[in-house]
Amino acid sequence: MKKVFLTFIVILLIVGLLWLVSSSRTFQLFGKIVNRVDTDKKVVALTFDDGPAKGVTDTILEILDKENVKATFFLKGKELEKYLDEAKNIALNGHEIGNHSYSHKRMVFKSMDFITEEIERSNKLIQKAGYNGTIYFRPPYGKKLFMLPYFLSENNITSISWDIEAETHLDKNATPDEISKYVVKHVKPGSIILLHVMYPSRINSLNAVPLIIDELKGRGYEFVTVSELLNEERLIL
Ligand SMILES: [Zn+2]
Repeated sequence: MKKVFLTFIVILLIVGLLWLVSSSRTFQLFGKIVNRVDTDKKVVALTFDDGPAKGVTDTILEILDKENVKATFFLKGKELEKYLDEAKNIALNGHEIGNHSYSHKRMVFKSMDFITEEIERSNKLIQKAGYNGTIYFRPPYGKKLFMLPYFLSENNITSISWDIEAETHLDKNATPDEISKYVVKHVKPGSIILLHVMYPSRINSLNAVPLIIDELKGRGYEFVTVSELLNEERLIL
């Protein structure tokens, strides 16, 4: 009986540990994951997950253009295929495009073939949209365990997570003002801000974007793309 109990406890601990590793924003088993960079310079990266979508893409591009801010869009392959013109506009406006998988499934306990197909198919679509820069990867739901980090590390692809996720910590009906206040309160030099703005249900996040930009600019922050942010990483000699 004691043995059964101990085995149960060990299994529980292992499952718990695997869950922690799969969900960590700062650690993965292979390769590099970045959730923010270490710098004293007041630079931050705005990152938008999912999409592209019709209509909203134009709106967010207008907001960013008006504010003269470059951001990073982690797009889904499936939606890139459907809305390639929207993705082309993102690239044309000088923003960075990252890979957010093809079908947005949790990439945990998936085969190497599945992972390869998901990432390569989306990378091709990103290039088809006219984006020629380095393509970083953001795992759907931030989830990764063995195969995904292994594939990324073998292919020299950096995982980009985030350190500011207002939507997760606030009520789903949080107002644009509440979202903006959360971001402004928690942001640090080198932060990576995650927002979802592409779908109608995320209208408050979309409307928070100009507030966040104005507030942070007022505090001396500059908005950069993920690539530019990575270049600011303090070199530890
Ligand atoms: Zn997503």
